[in-house]
Amino acid sequence: MKGAFPAFRLAFAVVKSGLNKAILDQGWHGFRLMLEYKQAWRGGYVVAVDPRNTSRTCPECGHIAKENRKNERFRCVACGHAAHADHVGALNILAAGQAVSACGAGRDLAPALKQEPAERAA
Ligand SMILES: [Zn+2]
Repeated sequence: MKGAFPAFRLAFAVVKSGLNKAILDQGWHGFRLMLEYKQAWRGGYVVAVDPRNTSRTCPECGHIAKENRKNERFRCVACGHAAHADHVGALNILAAGQAVSACGAGRDLAPALKQEPAERAA
């Protein structure tokens, strides 16, 4: 995913196996459109966040350092917090998404133009 969509990273940490194939088949733009569409249909929305330093920032103390991450392990050089790097990245992306949602900055406020057709009574 690194470098594939430099403007933002979508916050998802689950359903990776089928998801990877869907991304490869659709491309990032198509994937995002489908994700936004499905979320709007379910009453939710997609929040795009700036991915910079999400894998290098300690979720405990906020210290940012390249040295915090070594392969799949994260260990903060300032406070010693240790966890799997993917978990740390997910926590930082979640926090960034919550910050965007709280203040509305950067959130795509455009209403969903496409909606699932309503079921009609027979
Ligand atoms: Zn720390």
